[in-house]
Amino acid sequence: MEARPIWSAGRRVTLAALAALGIGLLLFPAASTTLFWWGIVPLLPATFLVHPSLWRNVCPLATLGMGSDGPEVSGRTDARVLSAGAAGIPPLVALVAWRGAGLEEWAAATGLLLAGLVVVAVVAGRRGVRRAGFCNRLCPLLPVERLYGMQPLVRIADDRCPQCSGCTPRGCLDLSTRTAVPQLLGPRREGTRWLATPFGGFAAAFPGFIVAYFVATGAEAGAARLIATLAVGSAISWLGAAAVVHWTRLSWSVALPTLAALAIGSYYGLSTPRAVAAWGGPPEWGRALAVVLVVGVAGWWVHALRARRGSRSSRRGLGQSPFPPPRPRT
Ligand code: SF4
Repeated sequence: MEARPIWSAGRRVTLAALAALGIGLLLFPAASTTLFWWGIVPLLPATFLVHPSLWRNVCPLATLGMGSDGPEVSGRTDARVLSAGAAGIPPLVALVAWRGAGLEEWAAATGLLLAGLVVVAVVAGRRGVRRAGFCNRLCPLLPVERLYGMQPLVRIADDRCPQCSGCTPRGCLDLSTRTAVPQLLGPRREGTRWLATPFGGFAAAFPGFIVAYFVATGAEAGAARLIATLAVGSAISWLGAAAVVHWTRLSWSVALPTLAALAIGSYYGLSTPRAVAAWGGPPEWGRALAVVLVVGVAGWWVHALRARRGSRSSRRGLGQSPFPPPRPRT
């Protein structure tokens, strides 16, 4: 399968945009920093709800972090199949904490962060087959893509992997948005034990983490207070979710879309006015768009629950990789 021209063009555009952002951070530090953190970053979560491949097909870090096709195709034997796991969660938490502690107003640090991500993507990406080294393992955005992208609104095909090479044995979003999350939760997804899995714990804590971020940054707290607020917000969120799940015996397939909707609804409710201001819009537009987005998230939640209910009858294959294990290296 050849890459479709629209996605190839999209990849060139996002790589050029990343380079332009780097130059902008040097020449117009204040405007570029605001545009990146408040103008561009808030666009991404909504694309994950529509379909994670909308972003994943063109993400510049994914482009730079693509490893080789595997030994059968490339002849290389040093690239490895690596577990998707939950390795992206600590970098995400660290990044959000750093952002709240001043990163979003500091052009040099923002530039260093982006440069560091490019280096990690290239170096780690080369260690794995295709997406296994960085995109499906270390990227700090991956846990969010998985949580918000578990029940897309439309169908969009992955454009980077012509055939599955088994680079990511469990939880590959590009292979199947429907099975990625249950594969990550594993056998513990039955009953309430999914709350104690790394991804389940992340999903349960994430709504409180987001609200705590805006509470702490709104009060211009210092770094220690910010971290404490994030920890308390996450703990309250996880405990609240655990109480509801134990009390109602809510399954992961209902609870996770609900937690995703709470997280992204809180995010857009609290961030949209400032995001609109970053694009030069007046405050009333920001408030109006926030309402529209929260209503849109509620619509996605209804769609997700309906779709999950409809797919319960076909659970076959959720617990294991849907493709044969990769051939051993010779
Ligand atoms: S996981 Fe990271 S590298 Fe991969 S598509 Fe998403 S943002 Fe890009």
